[in-house]
Amino acid sequence: MIVVFLGPPGAGKGTQCKELVERYGLLHLSSGDALRRHRKEGTELGQKAQSYMDQGTLVPDDLIVAMMMDEMKNIEQGNGAILDGFPRTIGQAEELDAALAKTEAKVDVVLNLEVDDSKLEERITGRRSCPVCGAAYHITFNPPQRENQCNAGCSELTQRPDDTSEVVQNRIKTYHEQTSPLVEYYQAKGNIVNIDGNVSIDKVTQSIRVAMDEMTIA
Ligand SMILES: [Zn+2]
Repeated sequence: MIVVFLGPPGAGKGTQCKELVERYGLLHLSSGDALRRHRKEGTELGQKAQSYMDQGTLVPDDLIVAMMMDEMKNIEQGNGAILDGFPRTIGQAEELDAALAKTEAKVDVVLNLEVDDSKLEERITGRRSCPVCGAAYHITFNPPQRENQCNAGCSELTQRPDDTSEVVQNRIKTYHEQTSPLVEYYQAKGNIVNIDGNVSIDKVTQSIRVAMDEMTIA
């Protein structure tokens, strides 16, 4: 079973992916991890990707897909994979379908986690962490006991530079620009399920389970 998981930054995709991995025994694959591994191990694909990055150009879709297909070799019989943040473009989606078709596989379910932009911004810009012990906080949802101080007393809390309002708005805008055509692509294939991500983590988990069960039984 191949599951594609789409969701904007701050939607809680990480938490839900973890749940899916545990519940369905899926392999968790992201193109970022695949790229890192191939570059680190200096594989042929990794070296090709590196040459594009050295020139400051984007790694082409077919190369990204080849790396992901290489990761999917490790899928055990009967299990599957969850593709996190991949495909990112129509080009990648088409290449992926073509590559999967060769192994008589296909994308079985596309989960599209949807969260209102204003909520995403609040979730991301409120994140703080302790630079010493790594503890994570949120100014609204998980505030420290003393303002802007780590509960363990190590340090003042800091914010990641790409979690500031302006950067977040850009990340969300880019996500919508890239993902809307992808959603249409999968809608045409009829294998996409929209999940309301505005509700609590448990409720989101529940709707994902229902969607997974419906799609995999059908
Ligand atoms: Zn700390």
